[in-house]
Amino acid sequence: MAIPYGRQCIGEDDIQAVVDILKSDYLTTGPSIEEFERIVAEYVRVKYAVAVTNGTAALHAACFAAGIKPGDEVITSPITFAASANCVLYCGGTPVFADIDKRTYNIDPRDIRRKITSRTKAIIAVHLAGQPCDMDEIHKIADENHLIVIEDGAHALGSVYKGKKIGGLSDLTTFSFHPVKPITTGEGGMITTNDEALYQKLLLFRSHGITRDASLLKEAEGPWYYEQQCLGYNYRITDFQCALGISQMRKLDCFLERRRRLVRRYEEALKGCTNVITPYQMEGTDSGWHLYIIQVLNHDRKEVFEKLREQGIGVNVHYIPVYKHPYYQENGYGSVHCENAEHLYENMLSLPLYPLLTDEQQEFVIQAVKLIL
Ligand SMILES: *Cc1c(COP(=O)(O)O)cnc(C)c1O
Repeated sequence: MAIPYGRQCIGEDDIQAVVDILKSDYLTTGPSIEEFERIVAEYVRVKYAVAVTNGTAALHAACFAAGIKPGDEVITSPITFAASANCVLYCGGTPVFADIDKRTYNIDPRDIRRKITSRTKAIIAVHLAGQPCDMDEIHKIADENHLIVIEDGAHALGSVYKGKKIGGLSDLTTFSFHPVKPITTGEGGMITTNDEALYQKLLLFRSHGITRDASLLKEAEGPWYYEQQCLGYNYRITDFQCALGISQMRKLDCFLERRRRLVRRYEEALKGCTNVITPYQMEGTDSGWHLYIIQVLNHDRKEVFEKLREQGIGVNVHYIPVYKHPYYQENGYGSVHCENAEHLYENMLSLPLYPLLTDEQQEFVIQAVKLIL
């Protein structure tokens, strides 16, 4: 693809940072992990951060820490990557899909209320494309119903909700460092929280449920001694990935600035185009613009998609409503219907957006879109 929908931005400084670690004593469980966690925690202004192998592991760890168990229901959005719901299944829980808000494409708090039952345990709010969800309303619902709030911030590192960065607003927030995401470590993820008890659970879960922390041990048999206290996994990230993450964090604000500038150019160019709905931005929020999702009107989206792809423009569709996938259809979700999500899915198209997209490349995309629409 000549122009992909998203891609990483790696410089010589990133490469050197990784090489330095490869020449050092620790490839994993070394000091770069804590340093990366500290830098992200300071950036989003949260007390604790735990780096893991990927964003999906981060969601799994968050659901574990939240205590999701068989019989529990967790409400999330259908317009997201499957991992936002799969993580509930990993813990034996049941994902329940609440419809999206037509304007923001994020989960609609009014439909969350309708989907709450006596089994509801948590809400997973996904900040689609980096646009923050209506967190005040979601927290209100959670408080009234004693629910845990997990934010899937895979798209939202650097996004701002009412003056605060996504990452410290709820019980738990997860991030992904896949190459198309706001920063990358190749594969990587992180969970942030202000709650020390949740933090301890996350640490255990990341490494087999094992601890060596003397203050946490139930016995003290000797200096060799460690304990497995719960069933965890090996979700440890490497030090060279974290070195890349540290180096990328230095440039995150530049990445965000470039994304925001490209978005302003898209807005300017497409505002007169009556067959396009450009993204809505909720008042009091500042999106990190992971994706630029338009809606195509009066045209067949598939045809538009194919025509743009033929020209080497890597448009994409984010996302197929999760419950539409065969796995979900075959496992009890056959009768689920979220009207707004399905309507959006018919028309949505993600245009290329990433820091290294040049003005010329973007102009090529804009002209191609305008010619078709
Ligand atoms: C990318 C993504 C994930 C999963 O992250 P990985 O690092 O790829 O495992 C989860 N949720 C959303 C919304 C994502 O976009």
